Amino acid sequence: MKRFDALVVGGGPAGSTTAWRLADAGASVLLIDKARFPRDKPCGGGVTARAERLCPIDISPVVEEEVDLVELRFRYEDAVVRRASQPVIRMTQRRRLDAHLLDAAREKGVEVHEGESFDPANVAADIVVGADGANGTTARAFDLGNGIVHGVAYEGNVSYGVADRDRYANRAVIELAALDTAHGLSDFFAAWKREGSMDRAIRSTYGITLNDFEKRWQQRTRRRYGALALVSNLTIGGAFVLVVLVPLYFARRHRDRLRMAALVAADEAAERVARESAIEALLHGDDWPGPGDERPGVPRS
Ligand SMILES: Cc1cc2nc3c(=O)[nH]c(=O)nc-3n(C[C@H](O)[C@H](O)[C@H](O)COP(=O)(O)OP(=O)(O)OC[C@H]3O[C@@H](n4cnc5c(N)ncnc54)[C@H](O)[C@@H]3O)c2cc1C
Repeated sequence: MKRFDALVVGGGPAGSTTAWRLADAGASVLLIDKARFPRDKPCGGGVTARAERLCPIDISPVVEEEVDLVELRFRYEDAVVRRASQPVIRMTQRRRLDAHLLDAAREKGVEVHEGESFDPANVAADIVVGADGANGTTARAFDLGNGIVHGVAYEGNVSYGVADRDRYANRAVIELAALDTAHGLSDFFAAWKREGSMDRAIRSTYGITLNDFEKRWQQRTRRRYGALALVSNLTIGGAFVLVVLVPLYFARRHRDRLRMAALVAADEAAERVARESAIEALLHGDDWPGPGDERPGVPRS
């Protein structure tokens, strides 16, 4: 088996640039990545001026827009807007940026194996660089990286056909807020798991009904994001629709079905009573209490 000075696990920006630098310094380097490039990954795609200064590879070919206006907003309300004299962030798409960086490492002489996962039992290198990202396994394999806290992230890409170019071009909008500052979604998910019912979980967590919850969320999204509301329905969104709104829809449909079933059952019961009363009236002839009897649907004999 061919032996290398270094094995770099992961071909994201960290892995590619490390491999590039090692190869540039004369080391023989093998870089493996379980994915095949170009591949995507959740990320805003903003490369800060500082990150670009540290990057040994020119990223200009994959830059799509430059940001010189930064809008920092707090809880969807107050905003501070500052324009810089030069671009402070260069916007890229990760599938293009990462493929570009990996190509540069390859051109530097790094041997790249795509579609290959890290196997600790099969390391033919003097050193291993774990650059396999937040969900990588290299650190764990070497008993490192304890205490990692995992979170969930969502990403959506919006074209200028949907977002207002005048409002968003060359501007980074940073929103510092949570979906619900008092509760967050974690309480809701815990309640959902405990109660086994989305309706009850929403009531117990937020003190409102399913309908109110849906209405409020839609109003809030529209108010905050205007033209982007459509997108937020599909993105913030993206997962919210999948994780909350789709089950919400089914929960509501289930509830409506139950209501409908109850109405049908009530109608059938009323009909049955009326039918039985009618039969009784036929059988008992004049035995009814008299002209004051007001039983509905009962034919008088
Ligand atoms: C929603 C979101 C938005 C973000 N926005 C920005 C932003 O605008 N600007 C910014 O600078 N940062 C942003 N970040 C952070 C940025 O994405 C990460 O810091 C960056 O991707 C880390 O790069 P990396 O090379 O360490 O890992 P990654 O880019 O995650 O690459 C890791 C690679 O390792 C590979 N891999 C994983 N496991 C294995 C294995 N067992 N064997 C082989 N290969 C493996 C994966 O396939 C992947 O290609 C954002 C992050 C999120 C979640």
